[in-house]
Amino acid sequence: MILLDRVTKKYGKNMEPALDRISLHIEPKEFVVVVGQSGAGKSTLLKLLTREERATSGKIIVGGIDYDKLPDRNIPLLRRKIGTVFQDFKLLPNRTVFENVAFALEIVGVSTKEIKNTVPKVLEIVNLKDKADRMPRELSGGERQRVAIARAIVRQPKILIADEPTGNLDPKHAWDVIAVLEKINRYGTTVLLTTHNQDIVNKLKRRVITIEGGKVGSDRANAQYANRPAGRTV
Ligand code: ADP
Repeated sequence: MILLDRVTKKYGKNMEPALDRISLHIEPKEFVVVVGQSGAGKSTLLKLLTREERATSGKIIVGGIDYDKLPDRNIPLLRRKIGTVFQDFKLLPNRTVFENVAFALEIVGVSTKEIKNTVPKVLEIVNLKDKADRMPRELSGGERQRVAIARAIVRQPKILIADEPTGNLDPKHAWDVIAVLEKINRYGTTVLLTTHNQDIVNKLKRRVITIEGGKVGSDRANAQYANRPAGRTV
């Protein structure tokens, strides 16, 4: 599903690589947590996957798409396979919850009838069906993030990338968001989550990939965050 083979990213010719010959294999339906200190290369990794940035060398294949052979005009096709959620929710402030989610379908020409059918189902998944008519300012941070998740999954991407989605949330709301990500994963979507929250990493008990100085420092199944020997444990 996601394959990186010796991928290097340099932002400038004489700069140190942000990612240095990274190789990774992520299976369909996995839930992977990516951790690492600030500047380690996590965002760069995610930006390569969404094709916001291009690798300097190495191979990236996602859902059968070889990024070396992907013309720019086909990037929208790739982005339909990959939903994204960020720390700042990036909602449209003057549109309701329903309209925010519907917008992701409108821009790709989905019919009004189908939008009316699909959006409530997705709001149900993120537990916001009863808040469809609220404006973003009338929601808590956790609810706003769940709207952003609904918008990211409404076109049924195979992969959901969640980059620090709980960064601005208190623990209770953070767990509501994580629970929704787990539910989406159970429904069959591959989830890539970055977080600085050690508690979340430890309780999730999922595969944890640690990025250190642009390399894979460790890659462990069912991992705890700290103080374990390197290498996959399962
Ligand atoms: P993280 O997400 O783990 O904090 P990043 O991927 O943002 O790490 O950064 C990895 C390295 O690449 C850092 O040294 C950072 O300064 C550098 N970097 C990131 N984006 C750019 C950019 N657009 N131009 C130049 N250097 C960058």
